[in-house]
Amino acid sequence: MHTDLVAALDIGGTKIAGALVDGGGRIRLRTRRPTPAREDAETVMGAVESVLGELSGSPLWARTRAVGIGSAGPVDASAGTVSPVNVPGWRDFPLVSRVRRAVGGLPVELVGDGAAMTAAEHWQGAARGYANALCLVVSTGVGGGLVIGGKLYPGPTGNAGHIGHISVDLDGDLCPCGARGCVERIASGPNIARRALAGGWRPGPDGDSSAAAVAVAARAGDPFAVASFERAAQALAAGIAATATLIEIEIAVVGGGVAGAGDVLFGPLRRHLREYATLSFVRRLTVAPALTGTDAGLVGAAAAALLGTAR
Ligand SMILES: [Zn+2]
Repeated sequence: MHTDLVAALDIGGTKIAGALVDGGGRIRLRTRRPTPAREDAETVMGAVESVLGELSGSPLWARTRAVGIGSAGPVDASAGTVSPVNVPGWRDFPLVSRVRRAVGGLPVELVGDGAAMTAAEHWQGAARGYANALCLVVSTGVGGGLVIGGKLYPGPTGNAGHIGHISVDLDGDLCPCGARGCVERIASGPNIARRALAGGWRPGPDGDSSAAAVAVAARAGDPFAVASFERAAQALAAGIAATATLIEIEIAVVGGGVAGAGDVLFGPLRRHLREYATLSFVRRLTVAPALTGTDAGLVGAAAAALLGTAR
């Protein structure tokens, strides 16, 4: 069994990455194409087939037993379709059947990118050894995924753990999803930058007004930058505490570009968690930075195919 491989696809708005991954989580072969995100459905699928063609042209392909796909969402794993926000040509696109056809009928497992990152962290990263975990991806948006009872829990459509669109501010700002006061509306990178600028923070001479620049300013003591991260951390803490209270997660793993802020985020996050996670069974909740980095999507897609899910 340990000599078997799985093929992994990580499909996002900017790139389509593919890999052959072994049972120890090591990437044995990798390739990628830019996503022709503004093109029609067949052109985008052509890029996927090109990635699969390169993988299947390898001598390693004979040992490949399944395909795991992690895709930008929304996905519908029950229907085998994807509708990535940043790929308008794909709406209810039948990705699973098309990939299965391209690989000669191998089993295909589809999960959302949040679930894929979670699978990677559970298999190889900070959530390893934990039976119940929430993993968050805090970057342009806020995504996430769940491990429950030792298994990835993607839910019927593959979107469970979507913590970015839990409301933590009942009458808060409108979120693009249509609700108010969502975690993402407060804690995503663009919203951290927006709030710091609105407060009075000004970018340096390089003009960089990203959340990473706000993090640098916060580390240097800029009060508006500090306050913006403080608010983001508070929103994340409220969402994590709610999740922990509902399903008794033991660890919350935080990845994505904003997690690169380090203590500027994790300091206030741990402090606010002590305010919101108060019941006896959630007080020992651990918070840790993600460990799997840029390969999380590929490794996680492989994990979903190799280890299965709770679905
Ligand atoms: Zn929302």
